[in-house]
Amino acid sequence: MKIKSAEFVVSNSEVAKCPQNPIPEYAFIGRSNVGKSSLINMLTDRKSLAKTSGRPGKTQLINHFIINNNWYLVDLPGYGYAKVSKSSKKKFQKFITNYFEQRQQLVMAFVLVDIRHKPQPIDLEFMEYLGESGIPFGIIFTKADKLKPKAIERHVDDYSLELLKTWEALPPYFVTSSSKKIGQDEVLDFIATTNEE
Ligand code: GDP
Repeated sequence: MKIKSAEFVVSNSEVAKCPQNPIPEYAFIGRSNVGKSSLINMLTDRKSLAKTSGRPGKTQLINHFIINNNWYLVDLPGYGYAKVSKSSKKKFQKFITNYFEQRQQLVMAFVLVDIRHKPQPIDLEFMEYLGESGIPFGIIFTKADKLKPKAIERHVDDYSLELLKTWEALPPYFVTSSSKKIGQDEVLDFIATTNEE
């Protein structure tokens, strides 16, 4: 997929106020500092579509961007655990779970993880939550330029082994680097395929 246009549409603090048109949307989420804004800019060939330096007050918003006038890229706030967390459904902040439970247009979520780190409980639990909620997801490994090719392979293998403890099959995954522009075609072409179905 070639990026012909990428424009900011709106920021919202409530899911109910998000755009109502039935345009397919793809959500990007991960812990803060995982490289989400940089990835969004890299994917869309824009320098500062998503704000990379934590703009105060912007962090807890759901940001919609329209790409090529035919799909929404949604930049979600970094997730964290809710204060009261018993069942896995209630583990994450309410506005995050509201988003996933209410957006009919959502085609899939991309969970971003820093390729250098061992699988973190919060990321694994968030993927479990998505699975239980019936939301298709893929994994985007970020900052691949920080590792040598052999180490990338090892880290992806370790992550896969961890996932296979709970999942029967691996979700689609992508190895990316925003600073070296790695993985753009893979992610965009994948989105194009799912958007045609
Ligand atoms: P966000 O909080 O998830 O939106 O993360 P940012 O995109 O703001 O990035 C957090 C930090 O990681 C910044 O210092 C970025 O420069 C750095 N960063 C993001 N992506 C990459 C990458 O692909 N490679 C490297 N080396 N650093 C990155």
